[in-house]
Amino acid sequence: MSNKVNRAQRRRLFLSNFIGFSLIFILLGVIVFVLFGRAMLTSTDQALRVEESARLQGPPKPFQHKTKFQANVQNQHPFMTTTLVYDQQGKITNKLQLGSRYDTLKDIKLHRSQVGQLKTIKVNGKFNFRTLLIKAPKSTNDKNVAGKYLLIMENIDPQKAAMRNFTKVMLITMGVFWLLSILMSVWMSRLTMRPILRSWGRQTEFVGNAAHELRTPLTIIQNKLEFLLTKPNDKIIDQAANIAIANSESQRLQKLTHDLLALARSDSNTLQTNFESTEVADFLQYTVEPYTEIAASQGKKLVLAPVPTFKAVLDQDLIHQLMNILIDNALKYSPQGSTITVTAQPLGRKWQLIVADQGIGVTGRDRARIFDRFYRVDTSRSRQTGGNGLGLSIAHWIVDLHHGTITVRDNQPKGSQFVTTLPVNPPKNGHHDAKK
Ligand code: ADP
Repeated sequence: MSNKVNRAQRRRLFLSNFIGFSLIFILLGVIVFVLFGRAMLTSTDQALRVEESARLQGPPKPFQHKTKFQANVQNQHPFMTTTLVYDQQGKITNKLQLGSRYDTLKDIKLHRSQVGQLKTIKVNGKFNFRTLLIKAPKSTNDKNVAGKYLLIMENIDPQKAAMRNFTKVMLITMGVFWLLSILMSVWMSRLTMRPILRSWGRQTEFVGNAAHELRTPLTIIQNKLEFLLTKPNDKIIDQAANIAIANSESQRLQKLTHDLLALARSDSNTLQTNFESTEVADFLQYTVEPYTEIAASQGKKLVLAPVPTFKAVLDQDLIHQLMNILIDNALKYSPQGSTITVTAQPLGRKWQLIVADQGIGVTGRDRARIFDRFYRVDTSRSRQTGGNGLGLSIAHWIVDLHHGTITVRDNQPKGSQFVTTLPVNPPKNGHHDAKK
């Protein structure tokens, strides 16, 4: 099911990327193409206009000043420009001047209505010309053209050929890039989907695990209640054991939902943190205090080693919760008569908090995994101790929020040390993405 959704999602992403790329390429192609075509005709049209003004002014006198532009254009197109002179009847009158070109051009008709207009025409089915029809006033110096129609023609075959070449190159280039854009779209949709897939997988696993964890205590409570219903005449004292079990399971449920809520909050990044400068020694004293009694009641010893006086910026509620998790675990996983030691010390711009126990310890492979959600080294054992495998992942998230690190190492001669290293002044904006 989830795979199908992912594939559909990826296909949609791919399509939108691909359509986006294609649109950009097509738009770019059209713009370049239009601009190129227009630029080509513009220079021809300018040449025609220059020729027009030259014609209307009569042949230039030898010492007449020419603008630089006119000089250039005329030098550039000395043989490209042809002029057909028509009389009032539409007959070509400069046959002699045209020479051999006359045969090719003789069929071009005069369209009097097109005076002043720029046109593109095809002659004999193969030569392309850009034309400008003008009517020379009677007063023109050049007697040969006075009062006649002049069709100034500029051959644009080279431009057409260039345009064809350009179109070919353009189409090939665009084709290649279009193909590349397919690859690019595939790659981009993969890249975009990767984090989504990862968090999707994590979320599915999390929900699955959570449901499983919730089901066990619920089933036990249900069984116990159903059993009690079969003994309506018993006194509470007779069923105290069963009731106690149901009660402890409901406490378990409560802790579990509480932890799940904390993790859900950590996922959605909605938690409001409250970082404040804190005197660490006092804060730890106050946090550890209640646990010394609990430890004593279990025949264990909890010691807070003397803490040097220093301040650190931290969220007191969250670090309190972290201490609860670590001390709770230390108590859970160590035998009677053992000692749990809490130490804290500044280390330059950081400070370290260590909770050391003399318990069962954590070995190699498990060291990295115990911070994963729902991971427990010994499932049956931690079930007895009321664990749900979420404590350390919450601890990890809290440490992440403080831009710190948490690791576990061996305690000498036995047990484990949970070492939390936190910055004295955590950066306020944006926190690390909790990975677990
Ligand atoms: P749990 O609720 O099961 O204690 P945690 O996330 O707090 O879940 O811990 C994960 C697992 O790490 C535990 O099940 C246990 O196997 C191991 N662990 C945690 N703390 C200690 C410790 N102080 N000593 C030995 N093992 C520990």
